[in-house]
Amino acid sequence: MGNDQKPARKKSPNLQDKLKRLNLTRREDLLLHLPLRYEDETRLTPIAEAAQSTGSVQVEGEITDCQIQFRPRRQLVARLADATGALTLRFIHFYPNQQAALTMGNRVRCVGEIRQGFLGAEMVHPRCRVVLPDTPLPKALTPVYPTTAGLTQSALTRLIANALVGQPLTETLAADSLAQLRLPTLWDALNFLHRPPADVDADALDTRRHPAWRRVKLDELLAQQISLRQAYRARREIGAPKLTASGALAARLVSRLPFALTAAQVRAVSEISADLAQPYPMQRLLQGDVGAGKTLVAALAACQAIEAGWQVAFMAPTEILAEQHELKLREWFAVLNVEIAWLSGSQKSKLKQAQQAAARTASLVVGTHALIQEGVDYERLGLVIIDEQHRFGVQQRLALRQKGGAPHQLMMSATPIPRTLAMSYCADLDVSVLDELPPGRVPIRTRLARDGRRDEVMAYVRKKVAAGRQVYWVCPLIEESETLQLQTALDTHAWLTEALPDLNIGLVHGRLKPAEKQAVMAAFVAGTLDLLVATTVIEVGVDVPNASLMVIEHAERFGLSQLHQLRGRVGRGAFESACILLYADPLSQLARARLKIIFENTDGFEIARQDLRLRGPGEFIGSRQSGMPLLRYADLEQDADLVETARALAETMLTPTPEQADQHRERWLGGREELLKT
Ligand code: ADP
Ligand code: MG
Repeated sequence: MGNDQKPARKKSPNLQDKLKRLNLTRREDLLLHLPLRYEDETRLTPIAEAAQSTGSVQVEGEITDCQIQFRPRRQLVARLADATGALTLRFIHFYPNQQAALTMGNRVRCVGEIRQGFLGAEMVHPRCRVVLPDTPLPKALTPVYPTTAGLTQSALTRLIANALVGQPLTETLAADSLAQLRLPTLWDALNFLHRPPADVDADALDTRRHPAWRRVKLDELLAQQISLRQAYRARREIGAPKLTASGALAARLVSRLPFALTAAQVRAVSEISADLAQPYPMQRLLQGDVGAGKTLVAALAACQAIEAGWQVAFMAPTEILAEQHELKLREWFAVLNVEIAWLSGSQKSKLKQAQQAAARTASLVVGTHALIQEGVDYERLGLVIIDEQHRFGVQQRLALRQKGGAPHQLMMSATPIPRTLAMSYCADLDVSVLDELPPGRVPIRTRLARDGRRDEVMAYVRKKVAAGRQVYWVCPLIEESETLQLQTALDTHAWLTEALPDLNIGLVHGRLKPAEKQAVMAAFVAGTLDLLVATTVIEVGVDVPNASLMVIEHAERFGLSQLHQLRGRVGRGAFESACILLYADPLSQLARARLKIIFENTDGFEIARQDLRLRGPGEFIGSRQSGMPLLRYADLEQDADLVETARALAETMLTPTPEQADQHRERWLGGREELLKT
């Protein structure tokens, strides 16, 4: 195809390469490559009338002039005339074949938007087609496909039209399901979308609410569900130790707490407990807003494993957080005679060897990702707990899975995942949700302050410290350079020390040696430091109830979930807490939207939902990192009902008709699939 023997001047990718770039390698791929939008080419508008119009129009006329101009930059400019008038066609990027089509005297049909240029009405980058006089107009809307450089619409349209000829695609859904859902067969839906009939409701096509679109979206969501549910089932084939226990250890822990569990914690604990007693590995995500009390739920799960005679590894993404957990867990477990070992990446090798040796047999091992590195051999690893799991890469989670056979896994996340997103991208996990905070929390007041109002902020800091409270001062995020970020932290610490000479001010950042970091944190926890200047290393998990004020500099540079996490470091005690977001003008539209959301909301789930809307699922779940293929057609917000339907359908398909499920999955994910198998 396209194999003309002309010597190519520039080596350009051949058709196969271009198709590959669009992931179009099989006939099915072409058939599932659906229009971005449709254009109405069923009518011609006289040029005089078109020149006065706005929006997309189709005109036909004769090329009366065509030349390459070089001012202000190289471009192709042509004139198109009919009996009523003329307009300019302008191409800033163009290919030789486009230039050839615009040869003087050619009769050309153009579709595009009119704009008023320097020389009157013009179309920039219209779609043009050479026609013979009286060429009939199409009777239906014309699809416009997503394409790639060098692959024209007409070439792609032709390839897809060819794919539509021949054997209909086999239907993977049962006829009664289709009838019940009032949806067409996939083959009918695809034919409809590629070649909409003349009387179609253009609006339903554009908004993608037409049953044909819904059918395609359901198909896509179903493939995703099948793939993830298959992964889920495959895991159930793997054996894991049944961690059955009387619950005595957990009960002893609970009886010593100065508070009662929340109903949500009780529910999560019992869901986890049931999983742990199964002979296959648990894969459960514990979701809960900042401060919801996930650590305690994890500790109670650990009790069950330990009582059953197995080891527990508790992994946190940063050293500071891991240390906090260690302190807390020691406090809880010391009286229960549970032996705790500590393991982190930065220990001296001798010490590390000793720690690794201890980790072999300790009931509970707490640490950073060092827990999964070479040299650690657990004798009886039964449960792995991963805090802030979204902070870990896929590779690290994989490594854990390989450690010591197939331990049960409890993953925790304070980034609340909106329901539809959780259902679609986390369909291979079971999910427990802590949807309530412990009682008695005083809500955090959030204030926005322009950078210029620093003096007022300082006065407020003094007042808080005078009242016996402690303060976090978060340095601006500088994504481009770690060195610059460090410098800013040092500068901030220096000027705050000068500006507030009566206060004890500490500094913590990612470059400190672990022992230094530990000393600073310990001083802050003990209350010897009034103010802690920190980089985002304190973003997750730090728990100092007496700290009741947080100032975040250049809040406009942070993402929403980061701001929410940071803010969650205060409001952990009984004191009234506040978070001051300093920002610098002018704000970008996105930054303004983010600050508005964080200012108006305290509920992590609501913030996450708005974040999802702002950023889309790809950015939200960090798909680039996770390698998860994103949805092409379905929209998790608009098509939430279809996500539910797909989930239910996947379950009914997997058991009685696994081949059909395979075929369905293969159709949508073939070739991209290894991405999903994380
Ligand atoms: P997160 O879910 O953000 O990890 P933590 O586990 O750090 O939250 O818990 C936040 C604080 O709340 C901790 O000091 C913890 O001891 C406390 N806490 C946990 N559960 C309860 C409860 N049921 N009642 C009161 N305080 C609780
Ligand atoms: Mg936590």
